[in-house]
Amino acid sequence: MGSAAAAHLAARGAEVVAVEQFEPGHDRGSSHGESRIIRQAYFEDPAYVPLVLRSYELWEDLEREDPGLFLLTGGLFLGRPETDAVSGSLASAREHGLPHQVLDAGEIRRRFPAFAPRDDEVGVYEERSGFVRPERAVLAHWRRARAAGAELVTARALSWTAGDDGVRVETSAGTVEGDRLVVTPGAWAPTMLADLGLPLVVSRQAVFWFRPTDPAAYALGAQPVFVWERPGLSPYGFPCLDEDGGVKIGLHHRGAVTDPDEVDRVVTAADVAEVADLVRPLLPTLPGTYLRAITCLYTTTPDHDFVIGLHPHHRNVAIACGFSGHGFKFVPVVGEVLADLALDGTTARPIGLFDLTRFG
Ligand SMILES: Cc1cc2nc3c(=O)[nH]c(=O)nc-3n(C[C@H](O)[C@H](O)[C@H](O)COP(=O)(O)OP(=O)(O)OC[C@H]3O[C@@H](n4cnc5c(N)ncnc54)[C@H](O)[C@@H]3O)c2cc1C
Repeated sequence: MGSAAAAHLAARGAEVVAVEQFEPGHDRGSSHGESRIIRQAYFEDPAYVPLVLRSYELWEDLEREDPGLFLLTGGLFLGRPETDAVSGSLASAREHGLPHQVLDAGEIRRRFPAFAPRDDEVGVYEERSGFVRPERAVLAHWRRARAAGAELVTARALSWTAGDDGVRVETSAGTVEGDRLVVTPGAWAPTMLADLGLPLVVSRQAVFWFRPTDPAAYALGAQPVFVWERPGLSPYGFPCLDEDGGVKIGLHHRGAVTDPDEVDRVVTAADVAEVADLVRPLLPTLPGTYLRAITCLYTTTPDHDFVIGLHPHHRNVAIACGFSGHGFKFVPVVGEVLADLALDGTTARPIGLFDLTRFG
């Protein structure tokens, strides 16, 4: 979110200084690990759809500089008809006239043999779903920001203050001053935005790569990206994107609460066995050979909606955090919105759902 904000601000002629504690594209926050699902029939709330449509336009624009940055593979959102994954996807698709198909369990098994749905499960198939490459997206935004004159300071921001005369950020490498501040700290939001008392929960989320026993079913072109909702278990995954035949799988919102500076990055054999056992009934040939795993961080709000807006006490400070494990597809449009807020004090994009003051 920070790299995109820097790119949009610099493109509008602002003098930008970005403060980042690690190297751009690093693997210690929330924006790494090969792939992120992008989709339009947004099951969380139809109010996200205009934003995701704008994001797609901006992804297409960014992709001209980095072909392959994102790819539309089709997406399948599965569950019983009353689950959010199914009923929410349908509600968004219908409200916004998005192309989609509803597949029953038999059609799912025929078209996409990787899946073993129960007879009472259905899927909403969306052709314009796919994935984006998160590290490349961050780097592409940084390149744009720097080409437009932005400066990158590699340092830890320790604190910030804002007043009528401007903003100050104290960092481990000195003080940065400016007219306005954009704060996008990801999992570090509870400390960098402590004054707001936002009810954010930071959690460790592991993702796993397996080589399935039927690689053809998982081939790019055959297998869509997917989210599958079962009570207490929501696996999501991708087609095979790796030369070593690895297929990535994760379980949405199934991680332990953590501190971003003290994350346990070790994924144990017991963790691997657990995820293999949980997904085997749904994806019987996926847990073939275990290849590797990584950890990533979610920063989750109570309603799973984002937090985006101007600071209630400092109109020269714009904030974006609490992306609750589903923010990446919005990175370019959030960058654009943050540039609007920082430079114009307002945005024409619909961000009412993300009001900072909604938690009381
Ligand atoms: C396993 C996993 C799977 C996901 N899958 C999807 C998906 O399929 N689709 C989707 O749309 N979303 C997905 N997401 C969510 C999405 O990736 C996140 O919402 C998004 O990356 C959040 O971006 P961010 O900029 O807020 O956080 P980050 O990318 O973590 O950026 C915050 C940055 O701020 C820096 N920072 C923080 N504090 C300081 C400080 N004091 N000083 C200096 N620098 C600081 C950090 O180092 C970091 O670089 C997934 C997330 C995970 C973890």
